[in-house]
Amino acid sequence: MANPSTPNVRDWSIESNVEPTVRVGIILKQDAQKFISIDIPDHQHTVYADGFSLGDFEKTNIRLALSGGQLAVTAGDQTIAVEQSVKIEPKTASTSSEDAMIVHDIVAGRGFHWQKRCDQSLAGAAEIFAERTSLILINTLPLETYLAGVITAEMSGACPVEFLKAQCVVARSWLLAMSESKHDADPFDRCNDDCCQRYQGIANTSGAAWRAVEECRGMVLLDNDRNVVDAVYSKNCGGISETPESVWGEAKPCVESIFDTSDLSSFASLAPSTEQGFDAYLRAGDQLAPHVYCSPSFVPPEVHSKYLGHVDEPDNYYRWSVTQTRQELEQGLAKRVDQLSTMAQLNDVTATLRGVSGRVQTLLVEWCDHDGELHETLIDREYNIRHALHPRFLYSSAFAIESIRNDTGELESVTLNGLGWGHGAGLCQMGALGMGLADKQLAEILSHYFPSATQSQAY
Ligand SMILES: [Zn+2]
Ligand SMILES: [Zn+2]
Repeated sequence: MANPSTPNVRDWSIESNVEPTVRVGIILKQDAQKFISIDIPDHQHTVYADGFSLGDFEKTNIRLALSGGQLAVTAGDQTIAVEQSVKIEPKTASTSSEDAMIVHDIVAGRGFHWQKRCDQSLAGAAEIFAERTSLILINTLPLETYLAGVITAEMSGACPVEFLKAQCVVARSWLLAMSESKHDADPFDRCNDDCCQRYQGIANTSGAAWRAVEECRGMVLLDNDRNVVDAVYSKNCGGISETPESVWGEAKPCVESIFDTSDLSSFASLAPSTEQGFDAYLRAGDQLAPHVYCSPSFVPPEVHSKYLGHVDEPDNYYRWSVTQTRQELEQGLAKRVDQLSTMAQLNDVTATLRGVSGRVQTLLVEWCDHDGELHETLIDREYNIRHALHPRFLYSSAFAIESIRNDTGELESVTLNGLGWGHGAGLCQMGALGMGLADKQLAEILSHYFPSATQSQAY
């Protein structure tokens, strides 16, 4: 297990010069889980209840159940009432998935279009405790082992190794930067999902993934003040990446908007932050595609199932279209947006502000309540807009709005013609994959997406 002197990621700094450990939230309060089943493999794990060892176990199923506010653990033939927590720890550290405990039925993709449940193999230690009416499971493990899991959950372990290294450097930098205050009140550092970055255990790690982690061990992106860059990333920028100012309302050093191409001339006349400019950019999709790393020209849909995360579904993320009837949108908006809960009729939706990549930053919704009174509601931030407009979270907020009206001018349906998947800032994962498939090397991929950052060893 981790050496006692190993810092946790929250206490780590660039001067630490060592690999930290990370505590990842695997089963969270919002999952409202009351039962956890864990298989211990043919590799000894010690089970502790409230700090006292219940013994060493192998090839055993451990069950945790919360009933009437009381947590109980069943290990072998003993069931014990637990006051505080249960800890399960391998006797000897291993990065082999064969030696890892399997936790059954974990939620992946909370609230997203691809939400699923799956079993996950966790290296390192697991700590389980009750928080009111839910069980919490936290996985504590060395950062590099965690990263092997992240790069093969975010994308597939079958990806080209130079891409996997780039994904690893940004995932490591993002984690070490710890710049977002999300989960400050939680008993873990980062969660296991797209809210933070995906980590689904180590069962999907490939030889290429471990090689990628090893070959870029400790490498991070640094800004001019030698701070680790908050190297955000998202699935598909659509051709132009977005600024952090537009996505989160604040700048991040060394994260800037770039054209996801090696042929800048084809982008010279584009200005997608205006309505006409965005329409032109959207329509130029096919014409730009041969030059855009995240387009189907570099990453065709046929290879998505090989290279994307195993929970992701193949689709044309580069350009897409979603149509909803007025009634579907009315019901969805009223349900998902508090300020719109009294909506009786939707009259119009318009984009009032776009970022440099065309992602909608502010959406205006015009509607009537049941008394016929007119309202105008602004929805800010790409995340809120994506949540508002689709029951399974819209791919991105980079869309043009096409409203179909009947003879009397009433709205009948709304089609969103869009591009990209995700917030669009920082590294474009499918673009970086496209670069990897085109035999680009790690340094070139990183300097393409983070042109003003320095690539450096943190340990
Ligand atoms: Zn999170
Ligand atoms: Zn891209």
